[in-house]
Amino acid sequence: MSDYTNLENLRFLLNEVHNIEDVLKYERYADYDTDAVEILLQSTKDTCDKEYFPFYREMDEDPARFEDGKLYVHPQIGKVVKMAGENGSIGAQFDYDDGGQQMPHLLYGALSHIQAAANNNIGGYFGLTAGAAGLIITFGSDELKNTYVPKMLSGEWAGTMCLTEPQAGSSLSDITSSATPQEDGSYKIKGQKIYISGGDHEYNDNFIHLYLARIDGAPSGTKGISLFVVPKNRITENGELVSNDVQTAGDFQKVGQRGYCTTHLMLGEKDDCQGWLVGAPNKGLSYMFQMMNGARIDVGMTAASIATAAYYASLQYAKDRPQGRKLSSDGSKNPTEEQTLIINHPDVRRMLLLQKAVSEASVSLLLRCSRLLDVAHNEDGEVAEDAHDMVEWLTPIAKTYPSEMGIKSVSTGLQVLGGAGFCSEYILQQYYRDIRIMSIYEGTTGIQSLDLLGRKSTIKNGRAMQLIGKEVNKAIDNASTFDDLKPYADKLAAKMKDMQEVFMHLLQFAMKGNHERFLSDATIFMEFASTIVVAWQWLEMATEAKKALVTGQLKQSEDFYESKVHTMKFYFKYELPKTSSLKETLMDSEVLTIMKEKELIS
Ligand SMILES: Cc1cc2nc3c(=O)[nH]c(=O)nc-3n(C[C@H](O)[C@H](O)[C@H](O)COP(=O)(O)OP(=O)(O)OC[C@H]3O[C@@H](n4cnc5c(N)ncnc54)[C@H](O)[C@@H]3O)c2cc1C
Repeated sequence: MSDYTNLENLRFLLNEVHNIEDVLKYERYADYDTDAVEILLQSTKDTCDKEYFPFYREMDEDPARFEDGKLYVHPQIGKVVKMAGENGSIGAQFDYDDGGQQMPHLLYGALSHIQAAANNNIGGYFGLTAGAAGLIITFGSDELKNTYVPKMLSGEWAGTMCLTEPQAGSSLSDITSSATPQEDGSYKIKGQKIYISGGDHEYNDNFIHLYLARIDGAPSGTKGISLFVVPKNRITENGELVSNDVQTAGDFQKVGQRGYCTTHLMLGEKDDCQGWLVGAPNKGLSYMFQMMNGARIDVGMTAASIATAAYYASLQYAKDRPQGRKLSSDGSKNPTEEQTLIINHPDVRRMLLLQKAVSEASVSLLLRCSRLLDVAHNEDGEVAEDAHDMVEWLTPIAKTYPSEMGIKSVSTGLQVLGGAGFCSEYILQQYYRDIRIMSIYEGTTGIQSLDLLGRKSTIKNGRAMQLIGKEVNKAIDNASTFDDLKPYADKLAAKMKDMQEVFMHLLQFAMKGNHERFLSDATIFMEFASTIVVAWQWLEMATEAKKALVTGQLKQSEDFYESKVHTMKFYFKYELPKTSSLKETLMDSEVLTIMKEKELIS
């Protein structure tokens, strides 16, 4: 059986590309050194080998479901959530004072990658708990913090994010859940939420919903949304848990991630649901963005990790499967020769290289975001602001590229297996189904693209894009010191100019007040910009690999480093040129998707 990830690749990314040693110098991370990093990588992999990966298929075949009024999830979820609580990995990046382990984000990202590659059904259960606890820590009162956070981080209670309602998915301004103030300072909550991940099951004693609702009389739209803590069971004065009128109405049955429950919750049906305000009234959506930004990075990493696991499964199959014969130099085939392995066919190598190019660059991009979070949280002044602005700009890309291209990459991996790829006996079909949700939840690709072009690229006069441009230029300069990387560095420099040109072309529509035109091709801009951003990741990885090869300071085998340079060349030849056609589309004056008086779609 193939492995689902490769620790050597993670070590290369952490040590040589993203310089974790520099991150470990921050005082906050004084308890971590490179030995501790290595121990954590290895022990996480060992745990995943025993507790995650062997249950991956079972969770798909024995999915989460609502039966006889009870939400069933695979018992291994209960075991793993308990283990995570006991070993302190829920909220490991939080302060010691808040019950965390002050783990660097960069390391946390690498460990999450291993877990998600092994079994992507599990991480969300405690990822959401950590995100919900993080919101209470940042914005909640001491009372809320003391009541909920310790039990959430210990794994006894779980947390969720409750945003979506039947009429309010992408458009959260249409939320109608209501909150009526009570004399004791709490609120009576009424409403329903759909698609709530990890919203109920028997392995946690309580579920702490971080819930968006509108206080009676609040302004309409996003300006009138507040954030509440709404527990499934509330605590009486003598410390008992009693029902808080939060009913689970069902569990959505899904194409993929079938081990991860997705609940439908009804609140206040008996007029007895209490919630407690987090922070100030009407600021709920801005608070929730803290959790959403974290979750977007988590989703990107999960997509990158599924694509990684699928790559290794396809690679293994291609190394084992004999089929056909290699073409001789005159184009003929000798039927008396033994069949060759499919990995020797150029088209199969092309497919595998695409998988490698997408999955490894995606993991690197997500680790870059985590590293920027470390810088933003540990530096002051302009350095912190720069890191913050860059991670803000990169987040929609880091969520979308691994999701969209991950879907393509896993589909390509399924193709490597031919008919076997379509059969349930092989694992590729599960990866294919599981990765499909990544471009939908936590904001669809359409919504991420509006965010990238309409918000993140324009705020502070485009400061974030300029900062990214400077980082890319550094990478270009570094690569240019190696003769055989210079042509690729030049190509990336030309693509960066294209990005500027396209952005300025689109921006003129916004400046003329034509926002619909400005944003109508935002998703095409996302594809265009992210393809260039990923070329930057590859150029950096190839430069570090080249450095190791030239200096002879090899931490991995020569083949390992050479494969990095080779994959960078592949990406620049087969993927990066696609931005030229995207540019043509983006610069074209013809408008075909904006609704006119006449309906042209029938
Ligand atoms: C498995 C699963 C788990 C989930 N977990 C959670 C959770 O834990 N908590 C939670 O609150 N929610 C959760 N969700 C909800 C998820 O975030 C939403 O499904 C998602 O945001 C899209 O909303 P929607 O389904 O209503 O689609 P819609 O908003 O109806 O979108 C339909 C299509 O229209 C497009 N579209 C919509 N508005 C615009 C626009 N303004 N401009 C351009 N295009 C637009 C979208 O991109 C999409 O292609 C989950 C969903 C699923 C399926």
